[in-house]
Amino acid sequence: MIKNLKNVAYIALVALAISSCSKTKDAPAVEEPKQEQSDKVLNYIKSLGFPASSIVDLGTEYMVEEDISFPKDMEVPVTDGTPKLEQYYTGTLVSPANAANIKVFVDPSMTSMNAEITNAIAQWNAVAGSALHFTLVAGAPYDIKIINANLGNGVCGAGTFPTGGKAGNLIRINKAYIAANSFAQRARTICHEFGHNISFRHTNWAALGESPAGINVPGVPGTDAASIMNGGQCGSGATVLSAKDKAATAALY
Ligand SMILES: [Zn+2]
Repeated sequence: MIKNLKNVAYIALVALAISSCSKTKDAPAVEEPKQEQSDKVLNYIKSLGFPASSIVDLGTEYMVEEDISFPKDMEVPVTDGTPKLEQYYTGTLVSPANAANIKVFVDPSMTSMNAEITNAIAQWNAVAGSALHFTLVAGAPYDIKIINANLGNGVCGAGTFPTGGKAGNLIRINKAYIAANSFAQRARTICHEFGHNISFRHTNWAALGESPAGINVPGVPGTDAASIMNGGQCGSGATVLSAKDKAATAALY
C-alpha cells in the first residue's frame, strides 16, 4: 500500500540529519540512498515543474528554493506521469483528518528551542476558521520531527512538503545559525518551516524568481509583504502570521 509512510521498500539506510556536510570527508559513514530511488525522487521533483537548475543535490536529499527538502528516501507519490501542478498542490494538502491532529516531536537536539517551537505552533493553532491543529508529543508515533541540522551559512531552516495526505515529516533548524536572532525571529523561522510542511510555498516566490509559479490559494491571491511565508527573510521577516496567511490557512484547512 503506497500510502503507508513506512513502506519499507522506500526506506534506505540513511540518516536524514545529514545535510550538506555529508560531502566532507569527515562525514559519518552513511549509505547513500540507492540510485534508482534517488532518480525516482528527482523525476518526481521535475514532474512538479521545478527546473533542473533549481534542484540542488546535497547527497542524501535534494533541496529546492533554498529551504524545501526532498529526502532521497522519501516515498514518491504515485502519479500517472504527467505534471499536474494545480492538482499536485491541491493533492498535497494534508488530509482533513490528519490536519486536525498533526503530531510534532521535538528531537533532543532541538529542545533548547522548545519555547520558540511552542510559539510557532500556537500561531498556527490560533487561526480562526481553520481546523488545523498541531500537537506536541513526547515520542512516536508522530507526523513531524524537528531536528537541529547544520544547513550551512545563510539557511535558517528547511521544511518538507506534504505527501500522501500527511504533513511533511521533517523540519530541520540551523540552530547555531539562528541562535543570535531575536526570540521572535527564531520562532518565525520555525513557524515558516511549519508552513512548508502543510504545503505553503513562498508568498514572494515571484520576486524570488522561484519556479514553478505558486498556486494561488482560492480567495487569497497576490503578494503580501507581511506574510510569514515570504522567503529569503531569515532574521528579518514577519514574526506573526499575517491576515492573509490566516485567511489562506482557513481556506485550505
Ligand atoms: Zn521557506
